[in-house]
Amino acid sequence: MNKESISGLLLAGGRGTRMGHVDKGLQPFGGTTMAAHVLARLAPQVATLAINANQNLDTYAAFGVPVWPDDTPGFAGPLAGLEAGLHRCTTPYLLTAPCDSPFLPADLAERLFEGLQREDADLAVAVTEENGLRQPHPVFCLLKTGLTPVLSAYLAAGGRRMDGWYPQIKVAEVLFGDADAFRNINTREELQQLDPSAHQAKPLPRLADVVSCLSSYDPEALPVRDAQRIIRDFVTPVRATEQVALRAALGRVLALDVISPINVPSHDNSAMDGYALRGSDLLPDTPTRLRVVGTTYAGRAFDGAPQAGECIRIMTGGVMPAGCDSVVPQEFVQVDGESIVLAPGVIRPGDNRRFAGEDLKLGSAALAAGKVVRPADLGLLASLGVAEVPVRRRLRVAFFSTGDELRSIGQPLDEGCVYDSNRYTIYGMLQRLGCDIIDMGVVRDDPQALEQALRDACESADAIITSGGVSVGAADYTRDIMARLGDVTFWKIGMRPGRPLAFGRIASNGRSAFLFGLPGNPVAVMVSFYFFAREALLRMMGAEAPLELMRARSSATIRKKPGRTEYQRGILARGADGQPEVRITGSQGSGILRSMSEANCMVVLHDEQGNVQAGDMVDVLLFEGLI
Ligand code: AMP
Ligand code: MG
Repeated sequence: MNKESISGLLLAGGRGTRMGHVDKGLQPFGGTTMAAHVLARLAPQVATLAINANQNLDTYAAFGVPVWPDDTPGFAGPLAGLEAGLHRCTTPYLLTAPCDSPFLPADLAERLFEGLQREDADLAVAVTEENGLRQPHPVFCLLKTGLTPVLSAYLAAGGRRMDGWYPQIKVAEVLFGDADAFRNINTREELQQLDPSAHQAKPLPRLADVVSCLSSYDPEALPVRDAQRIIRDFVTPVRATEQVALRAALGRVLALDVISPINVPSHDNSAMDGYALRGSDLLPDTPTRLRVVGTTYAGRAFDGAPQAGECIRIMTGGVMPAGCDSVVPQEFVQVDGESIVLAPGVIRPGDNRRFAGEDLKLGSAALAAGKVVRPADLGLLASLGVAEVPVRRRLRVAFFSTGDELRSIGQPLDEGCVYDSNRYTIYGMLQRLGCDIIDMGVVRDDPQALEQALRDACESADAIITSGGVSVGAADYTRDIMARLGDVTFWKIGMRPGRPLAFGRIASNGRSAFLFGLPGNPVAVMVSFYFFAREALLRMMGAEAPLELMRARSSATIRKKPGRTEYQRGILARGADGQPEVRITGSQGSGILRSMSEANCMVVLHDEQGNVQAGDMVDVLLFEGLI
């Protein structure tokens, strides 16, 4: 089979009536969508791909392949999709598969092509046998693109049945053994049953269930890693997605895999400036002399095919001329008039040739769902010609500070009062994560004010971050109100700074939001945010981005009690020997923001760790690069 002669068409033009009028192809399946699944299975079997769709055209376009709506109006069924494909297809054959059959055979094209050739037919259709009955699958077919007029005439006369036009053409049936491969998904229930990643169908977990997975659980003395694990298992991602222009995707989370619509590079090409030649011309023991018969530049191919004893001058990126499989760099040859001479052994056959699809294969996932888009990813997507990207909607996070002693900037600082700084560090950290933020100001230590603020936050945001009021000495009603509004737990975590933490989900007027009640001390707020809230918020955004700790040598001794995690503010720099070395900033008091601001990292001393000696290696979290 010559796969270059076949285009693959995904049939996604239906109304999705049986699924409750949702677009079937875009339903989540196996971590991506049904359509992405089918495209990925078709891609290796064909030269190019296209999608037949009649709604959500932009979303389909984000798969990076052409989208062809029906020509025949009114959702005329899959046959109209076939017609749209035949019209626009530029190869001699078209292979079709429906968007709701994610298990289609890997040899569909090959087997149908064999059948078509063998019977000299116009169309080959897949059939299976179930209980002795032949079951045709007319949406899985390979057909000659020359059939367009016959099909259009049938449709124009009102014909809609997939096999209704078979009497006018020659049809070959090809028997496939595995009936399950043609299984299609028609209802949401089937989708959920069959989707290997159907976790989204599960009801939201309760804290009690999540906590019960731990072998021992004491909210009054909870190790850091247990708290992190409970939080990770409890939060769930927002599901809504939106389509944004490529540049606007920077910092956003990809909602779907981006499937490469092309091979990158698209042709075999040269990795060097030099001469493209046939490896079989290379002489093992004596110099090889080749006649230069043409030149090929990047972007301008040479049409001829050099014969034995000939070569082509080629520039880096130039398309390999037919028959050539190797490139000798120019510095390895002697030019002698119209010819070049190269010494034996300077290259081996196949050297300096880049293969089509070496960077990315047509149909492979160029970027995976869940990735936070960085500058390199923008470039990668641009290199594929992708103009728009499906991303998760931004996470909405509301936050406020609690405390009667807090004053906002611009207010006079009464005796015993402090300016509210937490709202600014929290603002900064949320902004870096790319959240939509709702700053709710300072809330007084007053039950009614607090309840109202929590309810308002809950009704407008996905997550709420508060600071202050959760420690033991604080007025009890903060905890009471949080607990009354939902499923919230209060921990004393084995860590320093930042022992108290409230975590859970609250609800108000039918809306719910995850709640992080951080302690009030300014350094404790940042530490608790980075080590508990950050990963959870990213998870809610649909991204997996655990903190990356690196190792560095401690320049001095650090006193540390085993049995709790300590976070010390540090400055990481190169030591005298060029290796990373960290020293602790001055006072580590949990209210001292200055040492936080001077620091460029946190030294993380885990539970088991005792005193650190000068020269010992420790874990470090760098602030820069933290999104
Ligand atoms: P709390 O957890 O409410 O008992 O607060 C602990 C300490 O942190 C107290 O000294 C508070 O004044 C201080 N604090 C609480 N919230 C803030 C804030 N938003 N800005 C600055 N300091 C705060
Ligand atoms: Mg307070």
